[in-house]
Amino acid sequence: MNRSRQYVPLIRMTDVGLYCEAGGFFIDPHRGSVNQAVITHAHSDHARNVANTFHATTSSAPILYKRLGGNIDLCGYDYGETFILGDTRVSLHPAGHVLGSAQVRIEHEGEVWVVTGDFKRDDDPSCVPFEVVACDTLISEATFALPIYRWAPAAEIAKDILNWWETNIFYQQTSVLFCYALGKAQRVLAELYKITNRTVLLHGAVSPLVEIYRDAGIKMLATENLDLKIKRDYSGELVIAPPGAAGSAWMRRFKGAQTGFCSGWMRVRGNRRRRGYDRGFVLSDHADWPSLLQTISECGAKNVLLHHGFSDILVRYLNEQGINAESLIST
Ligand SMILES: [Zn+2]
Ligand SMILES: [Zn+2]
Repeated sequence: MNRSRQYVPLIRMTDVGLYCEAGGFFIDPHRGSVNQAVITHAHSDHARNVANTFHATTSSAPILYKRLGGNIDLCGYDYGETFILGDTRVSLHPAGHVLGSAQVRIEHEGEVWVVTGDFKRDDDPSCVPFEVVACDTLISEATFALPIYRWAPAAEIAKDILNWWETNIFYQQTSVLFCYALGKAQRVLAELYKITNRTVLLHGAVSPLVEIYRDAGIKMLATENLDLKIKRDYSGELVIAPPGAAGSAWMRRFKGAQTGFCSGWMRVRGNRRRRGYDRGFVLSDHADWPSLLQTISECGAKNVLLHHGFSDILVRYLNEQGINAESLIST
């Protein structure tokens, strides 16, 4: 019988995460128990301890060991280094998102797919810049895929943060700045390093990750770990803490503090008010609308598959431009 072979996509979404059958591996699996996992970066929604063997960049290894435990089976690779998984050739390329973050390039029978993982195109002195990787099919995140999301340069946001801090010093208030513990906190410290030489106090969830970045050679402002056993006056200090510490008992020691939150979500004013922060600083580690379009155009993909965030809006926009795009749904 002469039946044409049914087309099987090289990578598909499953309820465990992205799966490459030809390579026998998952990308960022989030549950279950799998054999081989390629990890794009160490954020907790991407790196879970659910695989026998992990493949990731060497530069993300210290963070993965810290978060998943020192006894995981982890194979580390340099950016651009090729390794074989099943019938595929795989390599990891800078995603510009956080230290060690990678896009995954998968080659199989002459076909090339790239999975961006979380990525951004903006300047970030705390990680290697995004690299455009040519491909036939691009699987991209679409977290901020709305035209309202356009980021100002981080250097400008850092100036705003410094002005806010200095104003609070004038009024003898403490500045508590909430940032994601991995990536955002270090990016802010690296940007501030260029414009001030003050010292920043760190919440206990942030300091070990700052140490890992320092060990990787990232230049950041001097920091001090908060010692909660010591009773002291924090007026005029800048404290960096994870968002989870907002509104907790931990905050009580900073009476009358001004609070700020660094996130792309601060682009929408209501978010700041709803979450009860005094200031919102629009700083994101994800691609904004122009960067998503730029990336899709530059990689030359014939097919674009989108997931996360506002993927439907971007699919519609791309289809209107004559680009073959779809939302990635579990099969
Ligand atoms: Zn991430
Ligand atoms: Zn993510």
